[in-house]
Amino acid sequence: MKICVLVKEVPDAAVEKRIDPSTGRMDRSGEKNLNPYDTHAIEAAMQIREGGAVPVEEIVAVTMGPESAVRALHKAVSLGADRSVHLTDAALAGSDVAATGYALAQTLQREKPDLVLLGQQSDDGECYTIGAVVAEHLGMPSLTQVIKMDVESGSLRCERQAEYGYDTVNVALPAVISVGDAINEPRYPSLKAIMGAKKKPLDTLSVGDAGIDAGKVGGDNSAAQWVAVKAPPQKAAGTIIEDEDTDETVEKIVAWLDERKLL
Ligand SMILES: Cc1cc2nc3c(=O)[nH]c(=O)nc-3n(C[C@H](O)[C@H](O)[C@H](O)COP(=O)(O)OP(=O)(O)OC[C@H]3O[C@@H](n4cnc5c(N)ncnc54)[C@H](O)[C@@H]3O)c2cc1C
Repeated sequence: MKICVLVKEVPDAAVEKRIDPSTGRMDRSGEKNLNPYDTHAIEAAMQIREGGAVPVEEIVAVTMGPESAVRALHKAVSLGADRSVHLTDAALAGSDVAATGYALAQTLQREKPDLVLLGQQSDDGECYTIGAVVAEHLGMPSLTQVIKMDVESGSLRCERQAEYGYDTVNVALPAVISVGDAINEPRYPSLKAIMGAKKKPLDTLSVGDAGIDAGKVGGDNSAAQWVAVKAPPQKAAGTIIEDEDTDETVEKIVAWLDERKLL
């Protein structure tokens, strides 16, 4: 079995999310990291390999992103992927979800995976949709929020989290599965794996290499266009009641609640 894991470089969780008003795109400057949700997808691939129900010949990490995204691939390799593929081209900048999903699907076509794994969401765009778009282009079945996966020959038995409980679904391979973060506890990379990650094979592809129609990607060719950006309204300052005399403080809190008909 060959597993491809889609991974994304995102701004570090500690960096405040901002839209660049000059481009209408997310400001992705500053510290970056591998999307934390994608570490669950890599771990899921590793557990399938280690589970031994089917032999896993290869785990390949795939990303689309600027030059810096190579660091996310190194991290993915340090967590267990055997090699990685980096789709990077100026023509891709500004691609919306549909264009990103098309470009990733074209890249995956070359790999012919039996299973494509994704995180449930990216920590920056948070669209939760790439899995479905990729699956549509590849003509493969797709499941989201999968929190348990048992591999049988030629199929997967999955449990997925839904609003009303859990669905158990059998899906034929090849398939595209986005895993929920409840599926596993990702491992930490060993120092040896971190040091060795840069030596693992890495294919860098342009739009042309991946057979992507340049007229279907990039900001100008995306169906979604940013029209305007505005900051959310400022929150009104809260009321702080200092506790100098506890009886008085309690009276003040009760009066505050009473005034707002909360008692
Ligand atoms: C008008 C417009 C312009 C945009 N311009 C840019 C831009 O210039 N640069 C940019 O990075 N984004 C840009 N975006 C956002 C871009 O479309 C999304 O980042 C992308 O479609 C993925 O959506 P998401 O990040 O919300 O992923 P989700 O659907 O929330 O992610 C689910 C999973 O998909 C996988 N995944 C998502 N993105 C990638 C990726 N790139 N490579 C590999 N795996 C991935 C990961 O496994 C992730 O866990 C733009 C969006 C719009 C609407």
